[in-house]
Amino acid sequence: MNNNVEIIKTHLDIVSVVSSYVELKKSGSNHKGLCPFHNEKGASFMVNQNLQIYKCFGCGESGDVISFIQKIEGLDFKSSLKFLSEKYGIKIDLEKDVSENKDKRRLYEINNLALEFFQYILNSHDSGKIAQNYLIKKRNLKPEIIKEFNIGYAPRGWNHLSDFLKKRGFSHDEIISSSLGVSKKNGGVYDKFRGRIIFPYFSLDGKCIGFMGRTIFEEDPKYLNSSETMVFKKGEFLYGLYKSKLELKKNGAILVEGMLDYLKPYQYGLKNLCATSGTALTPKQLELLKRYTDRIYFCFDSDSAGVNAILRGIEISDKYNFEVKILQIPKPYKDLDEYFDSNPVEALNITSSAVEIIDFYLGYLYKKHSLSNASGKNKIISEFKVFYQKISNDVTKNHYLKKLSEDLELDQNVVLNSLQKNIEIPTNYAPKTSENTKETLIGVNFNSKEAFLMSILVKSTIDSSNPIVLELLDESFEDPLLRNLYKKYRSYLINENKGPIDIRQFSNTLEEAESKTLENLALLDIEIDLSSEKKVLEELKNLVSFLNTSYKKRQIKDITTRIKKAEKEKDSNTVKILMEELTQLI
Ligand SMILES: [Zn+2]
Repeated sequence: MNNNVEIIKTHLDIVSVVSSYVELKKSGSNHKGLCPFHNEKGASFMVNQNLQIYKCFGCGESGDVISFIQKIEGLDFKSSLKFLSEKYGIKIDLEKDVSENKDKRRLYEINNLALEFFQYILNSHDSGKIAQNYLIKKRNLKPEIIKEFNIGYAPRGWNHLSDFLKKRGFSHDEIISSSLGVSKKNGGVYDKFRGRIIFPYFSLDGKCIGFMGRTIFEEDPKYLNSSETMVFKKGEFLYGLYKSKLELKKNGAILVEGMLDYLKPYQYGLKNLCATSGTALTPKQLELLKRYTDRIYFCFDSDSAGVNAILRGIEISDKYNFEVKILQIPKPYKDLDEYFDSNPVEALNITSSAVEIIDFYLGYLYKKHSLSNASGKNKIISEFKVFYQKISNDVTKNHYLKKLSEDLELDQNVVLNSLQKNIEIPTNYAPKTSENTKETLIGVNFNSKEAFLMSILVKSTIDSSNPIVLELLDESFEDPLLRNLYKKYRSYLINENKGPIDIRQFSNTLEEAESKTLENLALLDIEIDLSSEKKVLEELKNLVSFLNTSYKKRQIKDITTRIKKAEKEKDSNTVKILMEELTQLI
């Protein structure tokens, strides 16, 4: 490999390589230009031809021709060598994987041929007219964009593409393993994509790796993806990243869900986006993004609340250290596509109105709970608490304390008190205070008593016949995630299995955030002897009674506040009703 580095370096001049990405001007003994790695107006990016190195005095990026390609193309070391050798026709020896490489090469070849075919049908064949019409008239895409993104059309009929591929020397097996064809029962093959607009998928180095076909005849499914192949892994791919990666470096990544939400802003000049094409974000995709940026903008439709997306957002910012912001599409626009078509000037500035994730979450809580009564205010504060405790910056903390107090019309000291309050934990099952048990992943406070209770439950071997399960009230859980998890746990115990819980099976029945929480509960370091059934039951009993009592206390407090308010307003009827409620509680 060292030999390869030498070969590459002696054959290439850094100035000419960099010049294909950055406009360089001679400046003394250096070449100078606008840095491709950060957003700047003055040129602080220097390239030195003698030393064959570059450095940016704005952001500090520096290195040689290979690290430049690694950074700008988002490739690892070996792939950068390969990239340079292919781009500049330099022969190097990249050893092994010969047979795999051959299969991959055939895949790229067949994809390329299909790409040409789809584009030809769209642009030059009669049967493509309907698709042209759809893209340009109905979806308002410009011909330049259709061309730039190599959009094509797969005609109706069963064999157009497969016949074409066969004529060009591809075998039945190759057509099927490329996911362009589907095998027939009698041994033949038919086209996978029929009557669909074709959006090709490109790898980071610009190779065609797969396709997405959108029906224009309202057939099911609306969107059809290539199956995974040796060169296409759905969870490791982001649509448009290949085109937008440099923009991402400068301005952060706007994550959108569909092709048109990507293409339309791009067409109007907002280019720092990429699309997940309908799948949930995967860790691999985040690692990919991390190569280019530390900032992610989540873009939500104006009508979807997106609690799960928020949870996902928090998780991401925590795990991968992303700065996460939220873009809200103003009403009445349904998505980015529509927003750009109707008001492109305003839409181009969408990131300037990005909302901090905390503000977005507060806004969500205000919609979820009532701001006008004590119980609503209590719920808001208690759900916001976990967020608040995670903020490390004092100014930010103070900002939100003030905001929350004003919004809820409460005294700042009272709010601060509630925000800082932790339910104390008896020492005998307090966790070891190591860093990882302190972690409050996905908003759940794992230091709380309810978390301990759940932790014991999921680890213990109690079954549905245990009275504990019936005694514990759902409402005793303050944390909505834990409450839901407990509900599912109980109904799982009662309905699904007679004996103790099978945690893996149970986990399979849960949503992502819940099974994450379950994992954390299972990992929680609690100092209690789980092998002693007597001890476990004793602890559980104490916890259940504590949580149930706390819930009752909260209720009493809430009703008392409401009574006081009603008395103030001389609303004797309400006072009477509330008093009855209160006596029932006490
Ligand atoms: Zn820079």
